[in-house]
Amino acid sequence: MRILVTGGAGFIGSHLIDRLMEQGHDVLCLDNFYTGHKRNILKWFNHPNFELIRHDVTEPIRLEVDQIYHLACPASPVHYQYNPVKTIKTNVMGTLNMLGLAKRVKARFLLASTSEVYGDPEMHPQTEEYRGNVNPIGIRSCYDEGKRVAETLAFDYHRQNDVDIRIVRIFNTYGPRMLENDGRVVSNFVVQALRGQPLTVYGNGSQTRSFCYVSDLVEGIMRLMNSDFIGPVNLGNPDEYTILQLAQAVQQMVNPDVAIDFKPLPQDDPRRRKPDITRAKTHLDWQPTVPLQEGLQRTIEDFRARLTEAAQSDKDKTEAPLQI
Ligand code: NAD
Ligand code: UDP
Ligand code: UDP
Repeated sequence: MRILVTGGAGFIGSHLIDRLMEQGHDVLCLDNFYTGHKRNILKWFNHPNFELIRHDVTEPIRLEVDQIYHLACPASPVHYQYNPVKTIKTNVMGTLNMLGLAKRVKARFLLASTSEVYGDPEMHPQTEEYRGNVNPIGIRSCYDEGKRVAETLAFDYHRQNDVDIRIVRIFNTYGPRMLENDGRVVSNFVVQALRGQPLTVYGNGSQTRSFCYVSDLVEGIMRLMNSDFIGPVNLGNPDEYTILQLAQAVQQMVNPDVAIDFKPLPQDDPRRRKPDITRAKTHLDWQPTVPLQEGLQRTIEDFRARLTEAAQSDKDKTEAPLQI
């Protein structure tokens, strides 16, 4: 099949591309490199089945494809709040364009939505029926409300134009290739611990999240795309941890001497989050397989290798003879 992955140079997108390429598909990676990076997809550059398109999804584009995985959108609060107007444009105009494309070429369209559509949830754990508790005018709204509109657009194109849609609500996912400056909690703690810096816990650390390892998530996304079930489907790991527990786990695994610093809790930070994955189990026969300790270990190894490489390259630069 010819498969388009928007946001394919990003964290989840690049892991998805690895799997699709290994299955022998023709893969088009579309990305504007806002938070994505060429190094994530470098190994496919000379492969005849792979094509890279530098493009912004807020602009229309005409392509011929069979399936569209629509992931383009910054996912870390730090990055999506940096230019909130751009974030909402990406979610609304970008999704509109990709749905217009899916309609024209009759491609199956999968939207990467988010657990953030549940906002600061009053129902725990969250099922797909829960309609959420989202602040429409807060600093997270460009993302939460943007994704809610994206889901609405997908369902309206489905009802009005018969577009074949799939919707996945992704819960906190982590793993190798997250950016060092990504700003999300797992990458922050791992990078801080490896550098011997204090781990920054926001608030008192009693807020909870449930962390899914990236290979489990990608498996679930591909199962949804190729099933008959439209969704929305929650995909995430139901093992719930407080942020303080996560900090202590990273501390123990990397550097028990590193301190924990408590910082102010950002506005509208959800107090708890845990997916009910009954739908994914029933319709996709899916559930996570990688426990937190194992996933964290793999993530720590990846960051350790990258930080060592970066330090070595800085050293090489300072030792290089002056070019006059
Ligand atoms: P990421 O920031 O690593 O990847 C996003 C990719 O989209 C990047 O490569 C970025 O350059 C690209 N992009 C952003 N705006 C674009 C635009 N206007 N045009 C073209 N490309 C653009 O994030 P990720 O963690 O890989 O997330 C991928 C998707 O999954 C996002 O849609 C995100 O909302 C969703 N999601 C992720 C998580 C998670 O925990 N990782 C949770 C919920 C939802
Ligand atoms: N679009 C696109 N590529 C296509 C088809 C459509 O980018 O191959 C864009 C199109 O420019 C429009 C959006 O998708 O902005 C919605 O398209 P649709 O055909 O549904 O609406 P219309 O063009 O009639 O407003
Ligand atoms: N967080 C933290 N320290 C950090 C980064 C994040 O304590 O350095 C907290 C953040 O306040 C939130 C949780 O960790 O309660 C998850 O944050 P993240 O940005 O990873 O994802 P999201 O809030 O979107 O779930």
